[in-house]
Amino acid sequence: MDPLTAVPADLISALQSRLGPRGILTDPADTAPYCEDWRRLYRGRTPAVLRPATTEEVADAVRLCAVSGVAIVPQGGNTSMVGGAAVSEDGSQIVLSLSRLNRVREIDPIDMTMEIEAGVTLKAAQDAAADAGALLPLSISSEGSAQIGGVLATNAGGNNTVRYGNARDLVLGLEVVLPDGQVWHGLRRLHKDNTGYCLRQLFVGSEGTLGIITAAVLKLYPRPRETAVALCAVASPEAALDLFNRLQQHDAAAIQAYEYMSGLGVELVLRHIPGAALPLETAAAHYVLVELATSRKHADLRGAFEGVLAAAMEAGLVADAVIAESGTQRAALWRLREEHSEAQKLAGASVKNDVSVPVSKVPELIRRATEACERLVPGIRVVPFGHLGDGNIHVNLVQPDGMDGAAFLALDHTLMDAVNAVVRALDGSFSAEHGIGRLKPFMMPEWRGGAELDLMRGIKAALDPQGLMNPGKMLP
Ligand SMILES: Cc1cc2nc3c(=O)[nH]c(=O)nc-3n(C[C@H](O)[C@H](O)[C@H](O)COP(=O)(O)OP(=O)(O)OC[C@H]3O[C@@H](n4cnc5c(N)ncnc54)[C@H](O)[C@@H]3O)c2cc1C
Repeated sequence: MDPLTAVPADLISALQSRLGPRGILTDPADTAPYCEDWRRLYRGRTPAVLRPATTEEVADAVRLCAVSGVAIVPQGGNTSMVGGAAVSEDGSQIVLSLSRLNRVREIDPIDMTMEIEAGVTLKAAQDAAADAGALLPLSISSEGSAQIGGVLATNAGGNNTVRYGNARDLVLGLEVVLPDGQVWHGLRRLHKDNTGYCLRQLFVGSEGTLGIITAAVLKLYPRPRETAVALCAVASPEAALDLFNRLQQHDAAAIQAYEYMSGLGVELVLRHIPGAALPLETAAAHYVLVELATSRKHADLRGAFEGVLAAAMEAGLVADAVIAESGTQRAALWRLREEHSEAQKLAGASVKNDVSVPVSKVPELIRRATEACERLVPGIRVVPFGHLGDGNIHVNLVQPDGMDGAAFLALDHTLMDAVNAVVRALDGSFSAEHGIGRLKPFMMPEWRGGAELDLMRGIKAALDPQGLMNPGKMLP
């Protein structure tokens, strides 16, 4: 045994011989970055970070760990918001990073599919699709680091869910290393395949608790011919919803993204992110960022946008708006939204609530959750933002100016309970797209208890009877 950990030294030697020097890190200086999560909520330690380069190497590493009864934490870009890829503090778990499985294996322009390995970043996957003249329509602010395996294991949502669905809606096939080291070769590219249980959907969203995704076949779409992006200052969250409805009535299929931002959220971006600028004359209390896109010819999206916005202004819903004139302006508008998480990180300690409600209830969620949190902690900065078009709002709570960060974080359960009470009253979910990870398993019995949790435990026991895949995550 390694004296500092519960991992047998001969397992580490066997992994070293199988994976070679590039395939395993054991020096604490090298393993440290894999042992802290993006939000810095957890700092663990591990005797080894495995970096296999092929599916066969993943399978062999998993088999060796299974024989020794050692737990594995699969890790992609390590951008989880809920400590999903966090390793335990006792040194008993091994991290398995997929980052060297980073090949785009094939793009088929007729089937409109991409076969891709788990360690390719989402951005690189989008770029590869674009180079082939197609669109991979999944887009999240962490796409430069988040990897395909992580995105699928968390069923990521993001900005384009309103149009294309979540990650799960883009998956046709998967290749998965099971907890005993067997490989399930499910890389089909069929749109119709009713042959028993749909196993791929079991692994999507399973947060590394059932197996390790090593590759996937993803659906691609035609690239838009025309795109129009607008930033609108709106009178209220209700006005934001009304504008969404008007755009839907006009041309629902063209809505590519519909994002809400509070005045405070935008203010934090302007304050903390160098180069961020507000292209409107006056600041507002509420904004929406809207992207329309179409692959139709001569659609005149800009003209359509101007028409809907003019009517919305007349109705008092929109106070001011700007439509991007160029790609650079489009990127600058999107930056105001995409830098929300980073700006909040720089503004102090924060408690995050990634919740969803029926789209029609979003304004009520924003109002009631804000009031509840302000009652609990005077001076708290409530920053609701996110995907209004699919009912997923991040009700993020930033510490009051001057308050001790640790003292604020000590209130996290009280604050999450307050937000979740509103979410429950509105028939919503306490986790919309970030998953459960290590942060939220304690909420599962209350929200998913009874038959639902029993079924999930049964599935876990059937696939991973030794409980070695990402223990301590998702299931309480
Ligand atoms: C700035 C920022 C913005 C974000 N915006 C969004 C957003 O808009 N929408 C959204 O949904 N999420 C968002 N997230 C959360 C996060 O980026 C996603 O959850 C992402 O899908 C995680 O990918 P990853 O590769 O970093 O996975 P990791 O963080 O490494 O892992 C996440 C989970 O997946 C498991 N896992 C990783 N790889 C594999 C694999 N190959 N096989 C099996 N299990 C695996 C891990 O064990 C863990 O449970 C954001 C995060 C940040 C930091």
